[in-house]
Amino acid sequence: MIPASFDYVAPKTIGKAIALLQQHGAKAKVLAGGHSLLPAMKLRLASPKILIDINRLPNLDYIKESGGWLRIGALTRESALDESDLIKSKYPIIADTARVIADPLVRNMATVGGNLAHGDPANDHPATMLALGAEIVATGPKGKRTIPIESFFIDAFQTALKSQEILTEIRVPMPKPRSGGAYMKLERKVGDFAIAGVAAQLTLDDAGNIKTVGIGLTNVGLTAIKAEKAEAFLRGKTPDDATLKQASELAAAASQPQSDLRGPEEYKRAMVRVLTFRALKRAVERAQAG
Ligand SMILES: Cc1cc2nc3c(=O)[nH]c(=O)nc-3n(C[C@H](O)[C@H](O)[C@H](O)COP(=O)(O)OP(=O)(O)OC[C@H]3O[C@@H](n4cnc5c(N)ncnc54)[C@H](O)[C@@H]3O)c2cc1C
Repeated sequence: MIPASFDYVAPKTIGKAIALLQQHGAKAKVLAGGHSLLPAMKLRLASPKILIDINRLPNLDYIKESGGWLRIGALTRESALDESDLIKSKYPIIADTARVIADPLVRNMATVGGNLAHGDPANDHPATMLALGAEIVATGPKGKRTIPIESFFIDAFQTALKSQEILTEIRVPMPKPRSGGAYMKLERKVGDFAIAGVAAQLTLDDAGNIKTVGIGLTNVGLTAIKAEKAEAFLRGKTPDDATLKQASELAAAASQPQSDLRGPEEYKRAMVRVLTFRALKRAVERAQAG
């Protein structure tokens, strides 16, 4: 469990970091919290020749609202999300998510940017950000570009980020009145990756029907999955139990789980059904309360 030898640099400006990425190409890896990258290096699943530590870059650690968006800096730690009053009060789905990621030691270092950039289908934020309709801001040699979350996860451990880009910000649309969301995760024991997880975010109209809804599934496919048929089915409907149950069936049908040490395929699909119903139910309760 000893990684191959590597060089290490800790630039103090984003320009320098990007120049280093340009210089070293595929031999370089960005280092944020290190809680996915370093285990991969120890297992020799990754053997970068140089680590570009972005922890000294300024202005990448923030949680704030502006211009109609919640903006989260890429270097924001999971523990900061967990402790943020803004997140707890207005974005409970993100608080739900951060709270179930690993354990406090991991959460103190692991960053939300790293969680998304890693592209691990087992990570929890991807499904939540799909449900929220987030955008990813990437900064590269030509400046900033915005990537809709729906086109960010390309395959397992593969995202739309280019090798010379740094994920700098995650943007989430500020919630409209009568909005609510929830993340539900089933794990073998506290701190484990998900057997399955479901994120649901919705807004109700004046009559109490579902106006907009996003549903994301964790660890039941090669990437996080957006349950689009379930979303389309729910739009315009009254959120009663029968309707939420039917949507849960559609979400389960959209999942593509593999049998592994966390359980057989059928079990995981059944868990998606249960978790979708519960996440939607909690999201509706929160929307009705708000
Ligand atoms: C014991 C343990 C349990 C865990 N349990 C969970 C869990 O339950 N749920 C969960 O979601 N995760 C879990 N994780 C994984 C970990 O929490 C996340 O993957 C972590 O958030 C990754 O962020 P990081 O800052 O540590 O990224 P790093 O490990 O530093 O980087 C991960 C990858 O992303 C790239 N990267 C990082 N930041 C950027 C950036 N800003 N721009 C471009 N590329 C970037 C790196 O080059 C690397 O390829 C666990 C990890 C451990 C060690």
